[in-house]
This record gives sequence, C-alpha cells and structure tokens, in this order.
Amino acid sequence: MTDWSRLTSRLAQRQQQQLMRQRNTIETAQNAEIVSNGQKLLNFCSNDYLGLANHPQVVAALQQAAAEYGVGSGASHLVNGHSTLHHQLEEALAAFTGHQRALLFSTGYMANVGVISALVDKGDLVLQDKLNHASLIDGGLLSGARFARYLHNDVVSLTQKLQQHQANQQLIVTDGVFSMDGDIAPLNEIAAVAKQHNAWLMVDDAHGIGCLGPNGEGAVAEAGLAGEDVPILIGTFGKALGTAGAFVAGDEVLIESLIQFARPYIYTTAMPPAIAAATLASLKLVQTESFRREKLKQRIHQFRSGASQLGLQLMESTTAIQPIVVGDTETALKLSQFLKAQDILVTAIRPPTVPTGTARLRVTLSASHSERQVNQLLDALAKACKQLKDTSSQLN
Ligand SMILES: *Cc1c(COP(=O)(O)O)cnc(C)c1O
Repeated sequence: MTDWSRLTSRLAQRQQQQLMRQRNTIETAQNAEIVSNGQKLLNFCSNDYLGLANHPQVVAALQQAAAEYGVGSGASHLVNGHSTLHHQLEEALAAFTGHQRALLFSTGYMANVGVISALVDKGDLVLQDKLNHASLIDGGLLSGARFARYLHNDVVSLTQKLQQHQANQQLIVTDGVFSMDGDIAPLNEIAAVAKQHNAWLMVDDAHGIGCLGPNGEGAVAEAGLAGEDVPILIGTFGKALGTAGAFVAGDEVLIESLIQFARPYIYTTAMPPAIAAATLASLKLVQTESFRREKLKQRIHQFRSGASQLGLQLMESTTAIQPIVVGDTETALKLSQFLKAQDILVTAIRPPTVPTGTARLRVTLSASHSERQVNQLLDALAKACKQLKDTSSQLN
C-alpha cells in the first residue's frame, strides 16, 4: 500500500480551514443561465464577458474548420502542427494589437510561464505587482531571475524597487485588469517608468482584451497607449473571446526569440486549428460589433449603483469583475450558499487565491445578462445579507 499520510494530513488541514475547493459540474453551455446538478442557475461567475463562448458564428467556425482540418493538430508548432489557420490568427492579432507579430500559446498560463522564463535569467530582476496572476508569479519563479514585488498599482513603490536592485535586465510585469479585484493598472505611468529605467514591460491583459478599448483592443488602447508602449503584450482567448488559448504580441525580435527559447511554446502540441478558426470568428465579432461592450458597461453601472444602495462594499472597479469583499472565509461561503439557494451562482473566492482577510464574492457581469437578471442578482443579494444578519444574531 502506498503511504499517502502526508497528503491525507494536508487535505484534512485544508478541510478544517474551510479552504477545500470543489468543482461544480455544469450540464449546459456557458451562458447567463446554466444547469448544474439539475439546478437551473443564473450565472454570475464566468469570464465569458461578451457572451461569445456560445455564439452561433463562433461555433460554426469551429465546426467548419474541424470538418476540413480534423481535430488534433498532430504536432507542435515547430514540427508540423502550425496550420494556415494558426498563422491567420497570429496575423490578425498582430494587426489588432498594433504589433509587428503575434505568437499563439495553448493557454495563458503557458504563455506567461514561457515568456518570462525565456526572457530573463539569473542576474536579471523581475518586478511584479503584488496582485499579479499566479501564472505570472510562477513564470518569475521558474526563470531563476531575482524577484521583487511592488505594492499594488503603486508606481512609487515600483520606482523604488527599480532603483534598489541592480540587475543586467529589469522586467516589469503587471496584469492589465486584475483578475480578483477588477481594477486597471496605471499603464501610462508604468510605461513611462519602464522607459525611464530602460526596463522591459510586459502586460497580461487576459481580462481587458475584448472588453476595453474602442474596438476591444484592451487596457493598452483604453489608456491611450500605442502597441509599442507595451513591448510585451499577453492576451488570452478563454475570457471575452469565448474560446481557449492565448497569444503574445510584440516585435520581430521578441517573437522570434520566443519561438527559439520559450519551452512551453516549443515542447507542446499546437492548439487544435479549429480553435484558431473559432477565435478568428470571435475576434471579428469583437472588432466589428461594439454593442456587446456597450451592454456590458450598462450592466456594470446598473450593478454598482444597485449594490451601493444595498450598502455592499464594492471595490474600485469599472470592469466586468465586481468583487464584494466580506473579509472572512466563512461569511463569503455562507453568502454564496444563500445565493445558490435562490438559484444564483456567485463563487466565493478565498485565500490563497486572495490575501487572508479579503475573502470575497466575485461577481462577474456579461453582455449576455439582461437588465432583469442583474436585478434578480441584486434582490437575491439583499435577501442573502439579511439572512446572514439573522443567523449571526442567533449565534451571538
Ligand atoms: C485566466 C488568466 C490567465 C490564464 O489564462 P488561461 O488561458 O486560462 O490559462 C493568465 N493571466 C490572467 C490575468 C488570467 O486572468
């Protein structure tokens, strides 16, 4: 018998801290309404911000490409898995983001790990925002470069770290939109500081691409910056674009270096070409139809004004990510359960995903939500908060 005692004790500890994570199986497409365990739920926790994951044109593009190209790509990009569909998508993404070239990765996680570890090494310094996504942190650790974390969205703290540490090359890394808080990085200031210190700048815009900017180009365009102001741009397809995978955009030298040196690019099977075709279809919708971004903005506004009337503690977020910070894990879990009893799905986000003492309900809004559905959420939140008060006064 294998001795798993160290695992069983870690699992028991996690259970006891109420940090055990569980997967919900969903029985429908990703949508404003889903079915899970036979329960019909209003869905306020997907990253499908524009409602494209289930769009007929995106689905049709996938089906057509699968009929022509099959399902598996059959090999890595460098062997013979790089199809014309992958190539077309790369060219479209380069034009979309205002960069010379773009390179596809199978996931955003792999893109972040691959890019950071290909670009820096021992003797270099990676500077990261305290709230950066886990994949960026992991990339920094894997690279072997020295690591400094600056205070969240704090350019003064960033500048101090840049001055404190000597390094061959400094790489500044930030989320464009922060995934658990929903706020946007001060990219104008960060780009200026990067230039001033001759540091490289990498922005992971997983939550900005599709949603921000005049045509969905993301947080960089929203800030009024040009492509070249952010020389290393990461975008993902699994959120607003509604498909799967990721890209890096940059100039010739950057992309060629990644093709040569980014191990998560080299040593993995290329994404299915049909996914590239679906992403091309969805990119076209993002660029040409701005009504989804407008509708999303309206829902965000509606939710924020309704929630503040209820006295809920919102964060400084203008994006689709609207967390309600409640503090302790137990309260976050309870509220989430009370909402689920009213057929509303909002996940509780707990440490270690967020800092201790900042457990929250992470509400995400989508262009696929109707005004009525957001009102249903607000009504349910009001009830859930009252229920919470009633139960805690019983205990006291
Ligand atoms: C979701 C996310 C990723 C990971 O992208 P996947 O394609 O899901 O692997 C990377 N960075 C940020 C900021 C994210 O929110």
